[in-house]
Amino acid sequence: MFLHHRFHGLGPAFYSEERIKPLNEQRLVEINEPLAQFLNVDFKDPTTLDTLSGELDIPKCLSMVYAGHQFGGFSPKLGDGRGVLLGELETQNGDFYDLHIKGAGLTPFSRMGDGRAVLRSSIREYLVSEYMHALGIPSSRALALYDSTQAVYRERPELGAMLARVAKTHIRFGHFEYFYYSGKTDELDALMQYCLEHHFPHCLDEELPILSMFQDIVLRTANMIAHWQAVGFQHGVMNTDNFSILGETIDYGPYGFMEEYDPSWVCNHSDHEGRYAFGRQPSVGLWNLNCLARSFSNYLTRDQLVDSLKQYETRLEMHFSRLMTDKMGLSKGALTEELLKEWLAIITKEGLDYTSAFRLLSTVSKASPATLLDEVVDRSAASEFLDHYWSQRDDGRDQNEVSASMLKANPKFVLRNYLAHETIESAEQGNYLPFRKLLSVLSKPFDEHEECKELAMPSPEWGKRLEVSCSS
Ligand code: AMP
Ligand code: MG
Ligand code: MG
Repeated sequence: MFLHHRFHGLGPAFYSEERIKPLNEQRLVEINEPLAQFLNVDFKDPTTLDTLSGELDIPKCLSMVYAGHQFGGFSPKLGDGRGVLLGELETQNGDFYDLHIKGAGLTPFSRMGDGRAVLRSSIREYLVSEYMHALGIPSSRALALYDSTQAVYRERPELGAMLARVAKTHIRFGHFEYFYYSGKTDELDALMQYCLEHHFPHCLDEELPILSMFQDIVLRTANMIAHWQAVGFQHGVMNTDNFSILGETIDYGPYGFMEEYDPSWVCNHSDHEGRYAFGRQPSVGLWNLNCLARSFSNYLTRDQLVDSLKQYETRLEMHFSRLMTDKMGLSKGALTEELLKEWLAIITKEGLDYTSAFRLLSTVSKASPATLLDEVVDRSAASEFLDHYWSQRDDGRDQNEVSASMLKANPKFVLRNYLAHETIESAEQGNYLPFRKLLSVLSKPFDEHEECKELAMPSPEWGKRLEVSCSS
């Protein structure tokens, strides 16, 4: 496995050189073969395995230093407390991906933590990152999963694990905050230059490259959050140290997907104030960008920053509207916003499952309203909605084609907490079959998978109240 070490070139102010500290009886239990192929990673090569497992002590591996606003308060020094960046992989197209191991042991940034990740959270991250990717949402991805017999203590004793993951970058808003607030201006200069060269090279041709880069980060963040809102994803820990500068979703913790529609829903049991509730995600995105703006204030004027931030809301609304127009099977110019409001009111009142309801709508035709009406209590409200809906949707397009395209915008499967919970229970007993089955469905969530249709069912009552906390 050939690794580049571009980030390492920034120098020791940016990291601590570390190596992976293997777990007891560590065992490779899953490899993401299509991703490995894409990344030119050959798992048949024994040095690949030894590199990922930490058996081989390779030079220039590191844990990054960064800061971050956590639940509104500033933490001046965080960093990879349990992560090691092995280096960067280069694809056939010349694109670079960070190769990062999560759960690799203590680092100088571990603070009160143990440097470990548990099997439960590693499986949750594996499943969600592959699902997000399959939905078309830029995300870190899982390359390999290791389990072990090592006890790791959370609310209960659990099993330690390691996840090898890749992302276009692990540089976070918090990287800029760290160097800005600690007054390390030479390093902040170097970070700006590094990001421009490696992650925003298209901005180098612009008149004000740093301004273009900042604007690009604003837009990518807006796109990311619009997409979260469209699919009903809640991140759970939207701290600025968990926000990638490239608008990729990273650092999955106590995330969740909306089942019954409720904007005030909080998936993270530790988030007592509901700071990161589903409906607040768009405004938190802007709040985080404001934090980033401050870290750019040595380079850009107040007006430049404010004007850039103003583009956030417009972009988010535009992207969200485009996504929802597709989900509703409408054309540009239709009354999407109005219809969406009516449709969400029905979903809410009827207690329908968010994902399944959109899938259902994809299969309703003008000739067969019963497909929907038989699923609701208030048939007249639904019927009234359908009348309004057809007046907008039936605009001369081939309606079978509209249905077909809606089935590509509305997944049949969603990662429900209880499904993750069940696969984790089996995996903790050494049985990875349910994990693999769920993964195969979530990797192609728009396909029918007739043989796995039970995985598309709404959660049973016990599964709706599962609590997920920050401790991972
Ligand atoms: P998170 O919000 O989970 O991404 O983590 C916030 C910070 O805590 C990051 O700096 C992590 O590296 C660190 N952290 C989280 N869990 C642990 C752990 N078990 N041991 C050491 N550091 C941790
Ligand atoms: Mg990098
Ligand atoms: Mg994090």
